[in-house]
Amino acid sequence: MRIDLHAHSTASDGTDTPAELVRNAAAAGLDVVALTDHDTTRGYADAIDALPAGLTLVTGAELSCRLDGVSMHMLAYLFDPEEPELLAERELVRDDRTPRAQGMIARLRELGVPITWAQVARIAGDGSVGRPHIASALVELGVVPTVNDAFTEQWLSDGGRAFVEKHETDPFEAIRLIKGAGGVAVFAHPAAAKRGRTVPESAIAELAAAGLDGIEVDHMDHEPETRARLRGLAAELGLLSTGSSDYHGSRKTCLLGEFTTDPEVYGEITRRATGAFPVPGAGGNQGV
Ligand code: AMP
Ligand code: FE
Ligand code: FE
Ligand code: ZN
Repeated sequence: MRIDLHAHSTASDGTDTPAELVRNAAAAGLDVVALTDHDTTRGYADAIDALPAGLTLVTGAELSCRLDGVSMHMLAYLFDPEEPELLAERELVRDDRTPRAQGMIARLRELGVPITWAQVARIAGDGSVGRPHIASALVELGVVPTVNDAFTEQWLSDGGRAFVEKHETDPFEAIRLIKGAGGVAVFAHPAAAKRGRTVPESAIAELAAAGLDGIEVDHMDHEPETRARLRGLAAELGLLSTGSSDYHGSRKTCLLGEFTTDPEVYGEITRRATGAFPVPGAGGNQGV
């Protein structure tokens, strides 16, 4: 069983449509893929509609959180997408992304970059707009060679010259909301230091005590030593250890299935969830 529990589509900052994502997941030999767009569930219907036979979809989302001024991401799996409290919080974060992106565009224009909201809106389409879309615009404009190169102090990294904060949820509140919607909460790439500041291990222990289910250990932004340390920490705290690609299509270099989750851990996630069931592929709409 090959299980990848973290992937993005055009519903947020990935480049595959939800339908392309599930087809690509099957082509990559995955048995299970989770759709975890930033702060939105709007890709679910199209992913389910196109789900190839033999592939199971885990519905999820990656919630933008902030603890003591440090941004962090919380993966939520198999929650009820209609549950009103979590839905309201998701919409609050997602809706704040638009004025925030416009704020970053204004900063960039002050820095002499001829970027426009129309350009970024075209790139983001109907996905929840984020820094990777602005980064793609900077690539189009020839300001930086790649999306990754836009994530520096000079441009869009946390605290960078053109960075603007968005509303982000307190992670203890996120855990409460995810659990309240029958979901399972996994702290995404908790030690991805190259993305900016990370929370201390003491905070992971406090989140565990508050009901966190697991941490994403095997991830491209964690060095092998970091993974070993996190795996030990998870065992110590009684947390599940997951692994996933955090696939973003062509906007990032990692491939579907590059990191995977142990089938036993996946089984435990599905047993804990009460908000939704994994969706087995029926081999539906396979059009292009
Ligand atoms: P936002 O949610 O708009 O603040 O953007 C966060 C997203 O930007 C993350 O989900 C990643 O897709 C991407 N990102 C963050 N840091 C980096 C980085 N250092 N290099 C490349 N992409 C990054
Ligand atoms: Fe992303
Ligand atoms: Fe993330
Ligand atoms: Zn992600």
